Amino acid sequence: MVPRPAAPPPLGVVQRLVNTRELLEDRDDLSTPAGLVAWADSEGLPCPARPTEADLTRVRRLREALRQLLGAPEGAPAAVSALNGELARTGTRPLLRVDPPGAEFVGDDATALDTAITRVLATVVTTRLDGSLHRLKTCAAEDCLWAFYDRSPNAVSRWCETSVCGARHKMRAYRARQAASTSG
Ligand SMILES: [Zn+2]
Repeated sequence: MVPRPAAPPPLGVVQRLVNTRELLEDRDDLSTPAGLVAWADSEGLPCPARPTEADLTRVRRLREALRQLLGAPEGAPAAVSALNGELARTGTRPLLRVDPPGAEFVGDDATALDTAITRVLATVVTTRLDGSLHRLKTCAAEDCLWAFYDRSPNAVSRWCETSVCGARHKMRAYRARQAASTSG
Protein backbone atom coordinates (compact mmCIF):
# COMPACT_ATOMS: atom_id res chain seq x y z
CA MET A 1 0.00 0.00 0.00
CA VAL A 2 1.22 3.48 -0.81
CA PRO A 3 1.70 5.49 2.40
CA ARG A 4 -0.79 8.32 2.62
CA PRO A 5 0.07 11.49 4.55
CA ALA A 6 -1.15 11.77 8.13
CA ALA A 7 -3.15 14.76 9.32
CA PRO A 8 -1.44 17.08 11.82
CA PRO A 9 -2.71 17.22 15.40
CA PRO A 10 -5.39 17.49 16.58
CA LEU A 11 -7.07 16.07 13.45
CA GLY A 12 -5.13 12.81 13.60
CA VAL A 13 -7.50 11.16 16.05
CA VAL A 14 -10.44 11.74 13.71
CA GLN A 15 -8.50 10.56 10.65
CA ARG A 16 -7.24 7.42 12.38
CA LEU A 17 -10.72 6.50 13.63
CA VAL A 18 -12.24 6.80 10.15
CA ASN A 19 -9.34 4.78 8.73
CA THR A 20 -9.75 1.90 11.19
CA ARG A 21 -11.81 0.58 8.28
CA GLU A 22 -10.06 0.22 4.95
CA LEU A 23 -12.56 -0.54 2.20
CA LEU A 24 -10.00 -1.30 -0.52
CA GLU A 25 -8.44 -4.04 1.60
CA ASP A 26 -11.68 -5.12 3.29
CA ARG A 27 -10.10 -4.53 6.70
CA ASP A 28 -11.91 -3.37 9.85
CA ASP A 29 -9.88 -2.97 13.02
CA LEU A 30 -13.08 -2.39 15.02
CA SER A 31 -14.70 -5.72 14.19
CA THR A 32 -13.95 -7.24 17.62
CA PRO A 33 -13.98 -6.01 21.25
CA ALA A 34 -10.20 -6.54 21.39
CA GLY A 35 -9.85 -4.32 18.32
CA LEU A 36 -11.81 -1.55 20.03
CA VAL A 37 -9.64 -1.78 23.16
CA ALA A 38 -6.46 -1.68 21.02
CA TRP A 39 -7.68 1.39 19.12
CA ALA A 40 -8.57 3.25 22.35
CA ASP A 41 -5.20 2.31 23.90
CA SER A 42 -3.30 3.55 20.85
CA GLU A 43 -5.11 6.91 21.11
CA GLY A 44 -4.78 7.18 24.89
CA LEU A 45 -8.56 7.14 25.21
CA PRO A 46 -10.54 5.44 27.98
CA CYS A 47 -12.37 2.25 27.04
CA PRO A 48 -14.44 -0.36 28.83
CA ALA A 49 -12.28 -3.38 29.75
CA ARG A 50 -14.78 -5.66 28.02
CA PRO A 51 -16.64 -3.78 25.31
CA THR A 52 -20.03 -5.17 24.34
CA GLU A 53 -21.41 -5.66 20.83
CA ALA A 54 -23.48 -2.52 21.46
CA ASP A 55 -20.27 -0.58 22.21
CA LEU A 56 -18.73 -1.82 18.97
CA THR A 57 -21.82 -0.91 16.97
CA ARG A 58 -21.88 2.52 18.56
CA VAL A 59 -18.27 3.33 17.67
CA ARG A 60 -18.61 1.93 14.15
CA ARG A 61 -21.72 4.12 13.60
CA LEU A 62 -19.80 7.11 14.90
CA ARG A 63 -16.97 6.27 12.50
CA GLU A 64 -19.27 6.03 9.47
CA ALA A 65 -21.06 9.27 10.40
CA LEU A 66 -17.65 10.94 10.54
CA ARG A 67 -16.76 9.45 7.14
CA GLN A 68 -19.97 10.93 5.70
CA LEU A 69 -19.24 14.29 7.29
CA LEU A 70 -15.73 14.43 5.82
CA GLY A 71 -17.06 13.33 2.42
CA ALA A 72 -19.66 16.10 2.19
CA PRO A 73 -18.22 19.36 3.53
CA GLU A 74 -21.11 21.25 1.89
CA GLY A 75 -23.54 19.42 4.12
CA ALA A 76 -24.30 15.95 5.45
CA PRO A 77 -27.57 16.37 7.39
CA ALA A 78 -27.91 12.72 8.42
CA ALA A 79 -24.32 12.56 9.65
CA VAL A 80 -24.60 15.87 11.51
CA SER A 81 -27.80 14.69 13.17
CA ALA A 82 -26.16 11.40 14.21
CA LEU A 83 -23.11 13.21 15.61
CA ASN A 84 -25.27 15.71 17.50
CA GLY A 85 -27.17 12.75 18.92
CA GLU A 86 -23.90 11.25 20.16
CA LEU A 87 -22.80 14.57 21.67
CA ALA A 88 -26.03 14.70 23.64
CA ARG A 89 -25.89 11.02 24.58
CA THR A 90 -22.45 11.17 26.18
CA GLY A 91 -23.78 13.43 28.95
CA THR A 92 -20.37 14.98 29.57
CA ARG A 93 -19.18 18.53 30.18
CA PRO A 94 -15.70 20.06 29.97
CA LEU A 95 -13.93 20.81 33.23
CA LEU A 96 -10.62 22.58 33.87
CA ARG A 97 -8.34 21.03 36.50
CA VAL A 98 -5.83 22.79 38.76
CA ASP A 99 -3.66 19.92 39.95
CA PRO A 100 -2.35 18.56 37.74
CA PRO A 101 -3.12 21.42 35.36
CA GLY A 102 -5.31 20.21 32.56
CA ALA A 103 -8.83 19.62 31.42
CA GLU A 104 -11.15 16.71 31.03
CA PHE A 105 -14.70 15.76 30.28
CA VAL A 106 -16.81 14.60 33.18
CA GLY A 107 -20.36 13.41 33.58
CA ASP A 108 -22.22 11.78 36.46
CA ASP A 109 -23.32 8.82 34.37
CA ALA A 110 -20.61 8.98 31.71
CA THR A 111 -18.98 5.64 30.88
CA ALA A 112 -15.42 5.22 29.66
CA LEU A 113 -16.77 4.98 26.12
CA ASP A 114 -18.83 8.16 26.58
CA THR A 115 -15.62 9.96 27.55
CA ALA A 116 -13.68 8.52 24.59
CA ILE A 117 -16.41 9.53 22.14
CA THR A 118 -16.62 13.00 23.70
CA ARG A 119 -12.91 13.51 23.15
CA VAL A 120 -13.13 12.54 19.48
CA LEU A 121 -16.17 14.74 18.95
CA ALA A 122 -14.57 17.64 20.85
CA THR A 123 -11.87 17.61 18.17
CA VAL A 124 -14.53 17.67 15.46
CA VAL A 125 -16.25 20.60 17.16
CA THR A 126 -13.11 22.69 17.70
CA THR A 127 -11.77 22.06 14.18
CA ARG A 128 -15.15 22.99 12.68
CA LEU A 129 -14.98 26.19 14.74
CA ASP A 130 -11.46 27.10 13.61
CA GLY A 131 -12.06 25.92 10.04
CA SER A 132 -9.26 23.36 9.92
CA LEU A 133 -11.55 20.35 9.54
CA HIS A 134 -12.24 21.13 5.88
CA ARG A 135 -8.79 19.80 4.94
CA LEU A 136 -9.68 16.39 6.28
CA LYS A 137 -11.61 14.68 3.48
CA THR A 138 -12.58 11.28 2.24
CA CYS A 139 -11.20 9.99 -1.04
CA ALA A 140 -13.59 10.55 -3.97
CA ALA A 141 -13.22 6.91 -5.06
CA GLU A 142 -16.40 5.23 -3.79
CA ASP A 143 -14.61 1.95 -3.12
CA CYS A 144 -11.88 3.74 -1.11
CA LEU A 145 -13.33 6.58 1.03
CA TRP A 146 -10.04 6.79 2.95
CA ALA A 147 -9.75 9.87 5.17
CA PHE A 148 -6.84 11.99 3.94
CA TYR A 149 -5.43 15.38 4.81
CA ASP A 150 -5.50 17.73 1.83
CA ARG A 151 -2.25 19.74 1.73
CA SER A 152 -2.95 21.37 -1.64
CA PRO A 153 -2.87 25.22 -1.51
CA ASN A 154 -6.61 25.67 -2.11
CA ALA A 155 -7.71 22.33 -0.61
CA VAL A 156 -8.93 20.99 -3.95
CA SER A 157 -7.52 17.44 -3.85
CA ARG A 158 -10.01 14.65 -4.47
CA TRP A 159 -7.96 11.49 -4.04
CA CYS A 160 -6.32 9.98 -0.98
CA GLU A 161 -3.24 9.44 -3.13
CA THR A 162 -3.13 10.63 -6.74
CA SER A 163 -0.86 7.76 -7.74
CA VAL A 164 -3.38 5.24 -6.39
CA CYS A 165 -7.01 6.36 -6.59
CA GLY A 166 -6.41 9.22 -9.04
CA ALA A 167 -4.68 6.75 -11.37
CA ARG A 168 -7.47 4.18 -10.93
CA HIS A 169 -10.04 6.86 -11.79
CA LYS A 170 -8.13 7.83 -14.95
CA MET A 171 -7.90 4.18 -15.99
CA ARG A 172 -11.65 3.64 -15.51
CA ALA A 173 -12.44 6.80 -17.49
CA TYR A 174 -10.09 5.63 -20.27
CA ARG A 175 -11.73 2.18 -20.39
CA ALA A 176 -15.20 3.76 -20.47
CA ARG A 177 -14.16 5.91 -23.45
CA GLN A 178 -12.70 2.85 -25.20
CA ALA A 179 -15.88 0.85 -24.60
CA ALA A 180 -18.01 3.74 -25.87
CA SER A 181 -15.93 4.12 -29.04
CA THR A 182 -15.96 0.37 -29.89
CA SER A 183 -19.69 -0.02 -29.19
CA GLY A 184 -20.51 3.17 -31.11
ZN1 LIG B 1 -8.49 6.57 -2.33
